Amino acid sequence: MTHLTIDGVTKVFGDPDKDGVVAVDDLHIDVADGEFLVLLGPSGCGKTTTLRMIGGLETPSEGEILFDETVVNDIKARNRDVAMVFQDFALYPHMTVRENLGFGLKREDNGMSKDDIDQRVEEVATMLEIEQLLNNKPAQLSGGQKQRVALGRAIIREPRLFLFDEPLANLDAKLRKTMRTEIDELQSEVGITSAYVTHNQEEAMTIADKIAVLNEGSLQQLGRPEQVFNEPSNLFVAQFVGSPDMNIFEGTVESSGTGYRVELQDASFEIPEALVEGELSGEVFVGFRPQDFYQTNKRQADGLTFDADVRIVEPVGTKAIVHSDTPMGRVTAEIEEFHGLSAGDSLSLSISPEHVYLFDAETETLLK
Ligand code: ATP
Repeated sequence: MTHLTIDGVTKVFGDPDKDGVVAVDDLHIDVADGEFLVLLGPSGCGKTTTLRMIGGLETPSEGEILFDETVVNDIKARNRDVAMVFQDFALYPHMTVRENLGFGLKREDNGMSKDDIDQRVEEVATMLEIEQLLNNKPAQLSGGQKQRVALGRAIIREPRLFLFDEPLANLDAKLRKTMRTEIDELQSEVGITSAYVTHNQEEAMTIADKIAVLNEGSLQQLGRPEQVFNEPSNLFVAQFVGSPDMNIFEGTVESSGTGYRVELQDASFEIPEALVEGELSGEVFVGFRPQDFYQTNKRQADGLTFDADVRIVEPVGTKAIVHSDTPMGRVTAEIEEFHGLSAGDSLSLSISPEHVYLFDAETETLLK
């Protein structure tokens, strides 16, 4: 069991005084024993660089990485006892699955006999349900089977840490979902502290104990998936996490005596004082999650109700994503009762004040 600490880590590529790139900027993340951390963010935000520093493939320019109480900055990758799984599987093409699985154990000076290694290979193959493939070469495997072998190679040594770099990126959508559940189960079963890189927020939400949202090298939020979804620390996190995207509009807010009045283009509504901490006034971004809208026949007592002219209806199983024109502009809503609904229809949509997000227009931090 290993407790991972990333303590004020910065990574600059190139000359910091000239045209250096700050790939990671003063990152602080704590990952408890057995916890599953997901590093989430858009392309170029520094996820892979962070993972490579944990694995010892890059050296921090500043700050420290600790495994338990030990600073590992100067410990070489091969001596860190971490296992990495990459998106391209990185299997040896000329070796069978059995040889690929056993290779790491054979190479190490771990005192294991050939029989011990064979037994461990069988155990891991059974765990991953690839026993019948042990004599195949990688070219004879499907993408999902290759990824299972790559996982097998990672867990066979029972490392201190698992590091995953977009391990499911090369698999089709259905297999990706199956494999992410398997990785999640496997990780809980073996209880090894893990860090997992992805730009796919849905993958992050389902697999993580804790998500670190990164943008341009800096940490935007560190929290449990539901925290990051329900209480995004700023506009970036709010827009990056959740699908479909949060609806965002420019507006203003001011005190109304009994609460706060939010003014949007051709729409306004009241937020009761009890829902707000501190004082609100001035320019804001107003956010509505598509999942928080509901259909109404009449104007609701509180919150916002508006007319929506339906443009596109996209059924997704038991719900539909409905894009419509409203007095505020284009709105995306997730609606359950959509049968018979089509482009050109009119709807009345509402949202309760407790589900409204407000962000400071200048700093973009969450106000409510
Ligand atoms: P992606 O999802 O596209 O892999 P990422 O979030 O993993 O992106 P990184 O690969 O960590 O991002 O890159 C962060 C920044 O550092 C980028 O601007 C990238 O161009 C830069 N960078 C990464 N590696 C190097 C390098 N070896 N030399 C110079 N710049 C680099």
